[in-house]
Amino acid sequence: MKLIKGEPIAEAVYEDCRREIAELQSAGVTPGLAVVLVGEDPASKAYVGAKDRKCQELGLHSVKIEKPESLSQAELIALIDELNADESIHGILVQMPLPDHLNEDEVIMRISPAKDVDGLHPVNVGKLAMEDPTGFAPCTPAGCQRMLIESELETEGKHVVIVGRSLLVGKTLALLMMAKGKGANSTVTVAHSRTKDLEEVTREADILVAAIGRPCFIGANHVKDGAVVIDVGINRVDDATKKRGYRLVGDVDFDAVADKCEAITPVPGGVGKMTIAMLMANTIRACRLAKGV
Ligand code: NDP
Repeated sequence: MKLIKGEPIAEAVYEDCRREIAELQSAGVTPGLAVVLVGEDPASKAYVGAKDRKCQELGLHSVKIEKPESLSQAELIALIDELNADESIHGILVQMPLPDHLNEDEVIMRISPAKDVDGLHPVNVGKLAMEDPTGFAPCTPAGCQRMLIESELETEGKHVVIVGRSLLVGKTLALLMMAKGKGANSTVTVAHSRTKDLEEVTREADILVAAIGRPCFIGANHVKDGAVVIDVGINRVDDATKKRGYRLVGDVDFDAVADKCEAITPVPGGVGKMTIAMLMANTIRACRLAKGV
């Protein structure tokens, strides 16, 4: 069994980013990312902090905007309009989930598609479906695909079964994997909570992706011998032995499944490492497209 660790693959993406940033800077351009956080959610704060630190480490222009929970929809929309018009900003990410009184769909729709490095604007989802290379794929599915490519795991003609149909992960990963090209050309099945006989469906997978949000849900009976398993799940489970009182586990029961697999991603230390890396890569590409360099 091969363990597909996220860190070295993310590091290879960062290496490409550093090279591209140096190239752009010598042409007088610095890619810029604005990350907007509304409210005090600790997990969101941690994600935003990590994104900001990575930008600074790579030499990207980074703007971290923290707004109170009381921010109104109109104020948030006005902020997005400002960032859309700001020429030093090439990528905009609004950290989700937003507080309940804010309308996430309206916020996503307001971000200029050219700066939507999260890849959730309908224009970018449409471009993904149309295989238009000027679009942006959401970072987590793009990270899964990159892991398969860098691990030299064949995807062409393989049966990829994805459990989960969210736009953020499952549905967009399905579009990526069924597209023509490297790390794709797969036959894709998407399963979800209404799928009948899930174990039978997932046992058909050459490559099984779990994006469910249920700790250790995928067990040995879901996986055929020799499958590749990509675990997108990040779930907190109580653990009194840990200082913070919990530990992170995936959607896959790693210990039950690992021995059956040709390759598998761990949690933590797997797909989670890729998401920020792909955000940085998307921001640099947004900058190149905007500047025509
Ligand atoms: P969502 O809750 O939006 O989607 C979960 C999907 O799983 C839904 O399509 C749902 O089906 C399906 N599902 C739920 N229960 C079952 C079941 N019993 N059997 C089959 N399918 C089921 O979650 P996300 O897609 O946003 O995230 C999924 C996981 O990935 C989470 O653990 C999240 O934390 C993690 N994640 C990790 C990221 C990373 O950077 N590594 C980034 C984003 C997410 P239905 O549609 O029918 O309800």
